[in-house]
Amino acid sequence: MANKLKITLKPGKEKAILNRHHWIFSGAIASAPKNIAGDILPVYASNDMLLGSAYYNPKASIAARMISFDQTEPKVALEQHLFEALQLRKSLLNSETNAMRLVNAEGDSLPGLIIDQYDHFLVMQISTLGMHQLTPFFIDNLTKTVKPTGILEKSESLALKEEGLSPATRMLAGTPLQEITIKENALKFIVQPFEGQKTGFFLDQREMRAWVKTLSKNKRVLNAFSYTGGFTVYALSGGAQSVDSIDISEKAVQLASRNAALNGFTNQDNKFIVEDVFQFLRSSPLNYDLIILDPPAFAKRAKDVIPACRGYKDINRLAMEKMPKNSLLLTCSCSYFVDENLFQKVLFQAAAEANRSVKIIGKHRQAQDHPVNIFHPEGQYLKSFLLYVS
Ligand code: SAH
Repeated sequence: MANKLKITLKPGKEKAILNRHHWIFSGAIASAPKNIAGDILPVYASNDMLLGSAYYNPKASIAARMISFDQTEPKVALEQHLFEALQLRKSLLNSETNAMRLVNAEGDSLPGLIIDQYDHFLVMQISTLGMHQLTPFFIDNLTKTVKPTGILEKSESLALKEEGLSPATRMLAGTPLQEITIKENALKFIVQPFEGQKTGFFLDQREMRAWVKTLSKNKRVLNAFSYTGGFTVYALSGGAQSVDSIDISEKAVQLASRNAALNGFTNQDNKFIVEDVFQFLRSSPLNYDLIILDPPAFAKRAKDVIPACRGYKDINRLAMEKMPKNSLLLTCSCSYFVDENLFQKVLFQAAAEANRSVKIIGKHRQAQDHPVNIFHPEGQYLKSFLLYVS
């Protein structure tokens, strides 16, 4: 019986695992136990060579995800990955920032797990059954290492259903907090982990926001898809003449206005507008020196790529058509399925249709606390282009 509690791959399918890729698709598996879901099992090549260990879910199309690539005991491997993730964060961030991504799933060799830290409060996003079963292990470990005042689970990934899980917003440990004031590069932001989108704040744009601060002096800025005003506050602190912030979510816009005030920016010239950005780009004359377009992921699944590209092209074309001569456009896409090359082609098409001369003067990816595992390039999702429109 005992030798049945393992995953054996089909011939040749060990190649990706030897390349330290975490995913095992169901089609790559020759045999695995029938009645087990969520448990950690050893993984063998077809020639019976041990490849490591993975957690397993026969219901999911990514049926197993590797958590070690050698004989290390699985819990020890998980502990090591978490320790390394925390070490990396310690070396990255300055004392002016107390909100960061502590664990970035496969980027930190911990598939299915994201942990964001907001001051002393943690928010966990779990997207697989295997990781769901490991939750007590991580709570225990984090309680000892990070010592948070509370841990909230906020799991809402599209993949949950396939994993046999339901979306969850619930306290896993400690005391709930409705609002937390975080510090990012010495600027203050209110984060609402329960009510907010994702885990509460888009930490992945931290470096881009700092860049915007250096670009904004004396500029009229449009922050489109502004959420809670991250770019708005940075642009104002960089000396922007005015910033208009637009988002379709009324709650987000209210919080953007509170965040600006919290940092001392109360000038009435800064507008906070609840509107569809597509609509606004069509109806406004767009007299701005810097426009920021940071929409949500238009392509959440591979089959959405074509309509998503149309969406990206439309907003960029609409902006490019009307922007004043010699203005800046910071344009972003966080759709994994639209990669950097494709996004650049979309921008090419937008510039051609707008009949404007457009130069790429900078590029950026997600912030450093969102590492991409070199063996798992799927972790690269956010790309930003800074364009000069003349
Ligand atoms: N730049 C932000 C993050 C943007 S997230 C930051 O740095 O914090 C994307 C935002 O787009 C969300 O707040 C969402 O409410 C908003 N949104 C989605 N569709 C929209 C639309 N059609 N018009 C305006 N806002 C939209």
